[in-house]
Amino acid sequence: MAHQWNTEKTDRSPDFAAEEEAIRTNAVKARIEKSTESPTCRLCKEADETIDHILSCCKKIAQTDYKQPHNVVAQVVHWNLCQNYHLPVANNWWDHKPEKVTEIQVVPVAIGTLGTVPKELSKYLEEIGVDKVTISQLQKAALLGSARIIRRYIT
Ligand SMILES: [Zn+2]
Repeated sequence: MAHQWNTEKTDRSPDFAAEEEAIRTNAVKARIEKSTESPTCRLCKEADETIDHILSCCKKIAQTDYKQPHNVVAQVVHWNLCQNYHLPVANNWWDHKPEKVTEIQVVPVAIGTLGTVPKELSKYLEEIGVDKVTISQLQKAALLGSARIIRRYIT
């Protein structure tokens, strides 16, 4: 069974916290490796380049890269709901292309860039009838998006 973590609202998954210093952001290079390079973000040059900054705060990529993980999580949830209501849907969630929405119900489905989920997420998912994907699968979708951003910008 897939591993699931952080059903409490915290900043970090325990697995990731230990790994974070291994990702050589400019902040890690400056503070931990004592490099003479600036800790400033290589993209916006406005803040320290930490994992948090790259994954959730950098203005330079906010309108592009941050949308992808968000859209993937929404795609997975939408795919599940279409199945429940017997709407035409692809066999696999990753092939699903949601159509434009005309009527909405707002349900908070929040997954942090590092896989953090709020305590109430399972309740909300149950409320809207998401029963074919697990929270772990949603966390994985969000984390893959974060990994993609890190691979793209931190070299
Ligand atoms: Zn930045």
